[in-house]
Amino acid sequence: GKGAAMVTAVAYRLTDQARQIQETLAEFRLSKSQLLEVKKRMRVEIERGLKKESHKEATVKMLPTFVRSTPDGTENGDFLALDLGGTNFRVLLVKIRSGKRRTVEMHNKIYAIPIEVMQGTGEELFDHIVHCISDFLDYMGMKSARLPLGFTFSFPCHQTSLDAGILVTWTKGFKATDCEGEDVVELLREAIKRKEEFELDVVAIVNDTVGTMMTCAYEEPTCEVGLIAGTGSNACYMEEMRNIEIVDGTEGRMCVNMEWGAFGDNGCLDDIRTKYDQAVDENSLNEGKQRYEKMCSGMYLGEIVRQILIDLTKRGFLFRGQISETLKTRGIFETKFLSQIESDRLALLQVRAILQQLGLDSTCDDSIIVKEVCGTVSRRAAQICGAGMAAVVDKIRENRGLDHLDITVGVDGTLYKLHPHFSRIFHQTVKELAPKCEVNFLLSEDGSGKGAALITAVGCRQRELEAQ
Ligand code: BGC
Ligand code: MG
Repeated sequence: GKGAAMVTAVAYRLTDQARQIQETLAEFRLSKSQLLEVKKRMRVEIERGLKKESHKEATVKMLPTFVRSTPDGTENGDFLALDLGGTNFRVLLVKIRSGKRRTVEMHNKIYAIPIEVMQGTGEELFDHIVHCISDFLDYMGMKSARLPLGFTFSFPCHQTSLDAGILVTWTKGFKATDCEGEDVVELLREAIKRKEEFELDVVAIVNDTVGTMMTCAYEEPTCEVGLIAGTGSNACYMEEMRNIEIVDGTEGRMCVNMEWGAFGDNGCLDDIRTKYDQAVDENSLNEGKQRYEKMCSGMYLGEIVRQILIDLTKRGFLFRGQISETLKTRGIFETKFLSQIESDRLALLQVRAILQQLGLDSTCDDSIIVKEVCGTVSRRAAQICGAGMAAVVDKIRENRGLDHLDITVGVDGTLYKLHPHFSRIFHQTVKELAPKCEVNFLLSEDGSGKGAALITAVGCRQRELEAQ
């Protein structure tokens, strides 16, 4: 009768809704051949970055770092390190001792960088940094030490030596004025002078990927690649000097900061980017830039999820069709929330509790959908990140003319460390897409700080040699 017809209608509406949700998510589910295509395109962009004639226009910049070898255990001394551009800003004192028993002792303090400083003037930003250093030196009782300093600065920099780096462009949440096109080492030195409280010897500017690689290489000499899967996304590796056309010399190797976050900025990933990726880009501080990073790093995954949820809500599939103020708020789904929502041990009721914390009233069905959206977005992130890494390790293998390569990748980043599935799917993808490489992944303990100190130690030694 009529009742049965209504039940059928409701059931139909539900299956139709489920079908539409699946259709939406299908765009995020990449096939192996699509991932192989991503790997292949990354390789093309790598070559463009390395070649002199295409370097200027290249999106994947392949920036020389002037780090020519990994640590050899003879590094020694006390160093100050700064770590700017990740989840936290930190100042560190790193004591490295060489000899039979190598040790590294670290002291560090985390400082907040208020958003108005991140997005204020360059002078304010660097004054704030120096203010934090000053506080740290007081705290350690080391104001008069004039220590050598390594500056981990996790943004693309054009380096012409170990201690000079011109900021190409801000990424992630930073947008301080008057810094792009400037040498950030000089900006730091000037701010130290303005303060007139202490002296420091800025020896090296270091990308976080490079710091991570160096830290892991200190323990494991086969580590010649660094990866950050955190707030941002990037990789570095030891490239043959003969292939780095914008640096003179053909002997040996140099670490290249790939800046792979900008992969896709020339449109080469447009066929896999969804309208949600476009919306995230349009809502960002750097529209049109860092398109790959916006598909696979912690700062943006939650934003992609939010865009999908808004759309599904508008179509009446979620939250009773009501778009709350919360859902309109940028940045609500931080990596830690996504990680919690996707945790296997979590019952749906707990997923609902997390959504409730965020100010989202959900039904049981809503929470199932939200969890599936999160899982789909983070899986794609891990897969395309893996496709990028597959391109890197295969390039290294070919550089060395090998049929088989054993290599270690040093890794850091909140997404990699906190997310319950990202690392596993990432590893699996690298394995599938680069079958001729046996890749070992090593988590870096405090990579950026320790690595900056190791590089500074090498830099100091080099200076002494040159002075002789
Ligand atoms: C920056 C890179 C950095 C990465 C990870 C990106 O946004 O451009 O320099 O290595 O984030 O922190
Ligand atoms: Mg970091």
